[in-house]
Amino acid sequence: MNCMLCNGKTRVYNRRTHKNGKEYRGRRCNECGHEFRTYEVNQFTLLDAFDNHLPDEAVDRLADILEIEFPELIRERRFPEKYLKQAKENGIAYQTFRTRVLRYKWDLERASTAPILGEENIS
Ligand SMILES: [Zn+2]
Repeated sequence: MNCMLCNGKTRVYNRRTHKNGKEYRGRRCNECGHEFRTYEVNQFTLLDAFDNHLPDEAVDRLADILEIEFPELIRERRFPEKYLKQAKENGIAYQTFRTRVLRYKWDLERASTAPILGEENIS
């Protein structure tokens, strides 16, 4: 990871577990000495947090933006292949399947088998 001030290389000089249970790394820039902390946050954790404060449409848009800006995140597969395949066979789009699980908290079986309702087809 490069320094946000000078773009120089940084190294981890400290790892700590915060009292909230999250691990952070203290990083220091080799070039300018700037220090900053990084947390690793899963994209879904991030979206869940947004979900508590923003309208659904805004969170959906943010999810799309994350996928466009960080395509490598998509490779980090969250759903078991079995259910993705099952959803596909039942004509349920990935977006719909994902929304059912993440937003409506359906279980994977139901999300990949229940027939599509009219209002789910919007996107
Ligand atoms: Zn720097």
